[in-house]
Amino acid sequence: MGEKKKNIAILGSTGSIGTQALDVIRANSDAFTVEVLTGSSNADLLIKQAIEFNPNAVVIADESKYQYVKDTLQPHDIKVYAGAKAIAEVVEMHSIDLVLTAIVGYAGLESTLAAIKSGKQIALANKETLVVAGELVTALAKEKGVNLYPVDSEHSAIFQCLAGEFHNPIEKIYLTASGGPFRGKDREFLSTVKKEQALKHPNWDMGAKITIDSASLMNKGLEVIEAKWLFGLKAEQIDVIVHPQSIVHSIVQFTDGSMKAQMGLPDMKLPIQYAMGYPDRMKSDFPRFNFINYPQLTFEQADTKTFRNLALAFEAMNKGGNAPCVLNAANEVAVEAFLKDKIGFLQMSDIVEQCLQTVHFISRPSYTDYVETDKETRRVANLKMRNTQ
Ligand code: NAD
Ligand code: MG
Repeated sequence: MGEKKKNIAILGSTGSIGTQALDVIRANSDAFTVEVLTGSSNADLLIKQAIEFNPNAVVIADESKYQYVKDTLQPHDIKVYAGAKAIAEVVEMHSIDLVLTAIVGYAGLESTLAAIKSGKQIALANKETLVVAGELVTALAKEKGVNLYPVDSEHSAIFQCLAGEFHNPIEKIYLTASGGPFRGKDREFLSTVKKEQALKHPNWDMGAKITIDSASLMNKGLEVIEAKWLFGLKAEQIDVIVHPQSIVHSIVQFTDGSMKAQMGLPDMKLPIQYAMGYPDRMKSDFPRFNFINYPQLTFEQADTKTFRNLALAFEAMNKGGNAPCVLNAANEVAVEAFLKDKIGFLQMSDIVEQCLQTVHFISRPSYTDYVETDKETRRVANLKMRNTQ
């Protein structure tokens, strides 16, 4: 680490990634300070974090909580703002060195673009931004000289394998997938599963949306598209392999046939810390891997006939344009409906598929086109859902 501390803005500090990032910062207070914290509606947690980490500013997205947060933080020297626009504005603060984008879903797009526009380095957890508008985001980052450091464990693994190899072409990558709680199950079984079962992930403790995405393999589909943009790959260079132990976090295969993998216990704090500390590896006391506990590491093909979301994601990626944006918006609506017990597990893929077929295709979308596509897809998805009930 250099002498100067890195000033971090955490967008989505009250979530699973956000709170773990604060754990990393707490353990490395010599290296990092917190400049900005933002949350959606959990005002009490945001206030608690603000009092502990003393940021320059906090933003609560839910405007109805503004007065409460402001009044409670009154004795502290912390600026308080509210609303989605304020999140996109606060990232422009000159004092910020790095923005960790840990908002979930499409809602993170505007603030991520704003952060890149103002030249901030990005630790990217919000994979949906790259799924929705990967071309726009990566082009803007290139123009502004901004690095996108991956936080997603698979992409962090690829990034770690590429250290010292950035000049060497990649032949292909293997993204590993745990397979989620329903690995090996058939469609008949899946037709009856409820959210309580889907929310029990075998290896990772994450936010609700990504946990459902992991159970349906949509998460891996989103990650395939995320990898395409982060590493500049073609569809045929990206493969998915199911690895239930989640120890090998992903693999790069180079043009000489050599394969490099990154391994470790499944713990998001490691990729979060790597992204925030890059290029340094900082000492940690995270639990260490022990071979005795893992006599076997196994690998198997993903079942895309049962878990159609993965196939749909490849389809959307191959189609390009606004198709991945459609895929993402339809999925966000479907997951929310599944979490409210409004639709069944398998219907989530039906809605995504129907939206991909219905929503108007745009081959070279602008930012406004993405905004419109997201809106239109949500409208269509809600309509299809009403018709299938
Ligand atoms: P989460 O639901 O636990 O947290 C989401 C955060 O975003 C919260 O702070 C919430 O207040 C905020 N938020 C939600 N909606 C918002 C809105 N409309 N406006 C402003 N803020 C909003 O989610 P998470 O599991 O921490 O995931 C965050 C992102 O990181 C997702 O894109 C996810 O795919 C990615 N990710 C998560 C994990 C993990 O282990 N949790 C791993 C890899 C990638
Ligand atoms: Mg992941």
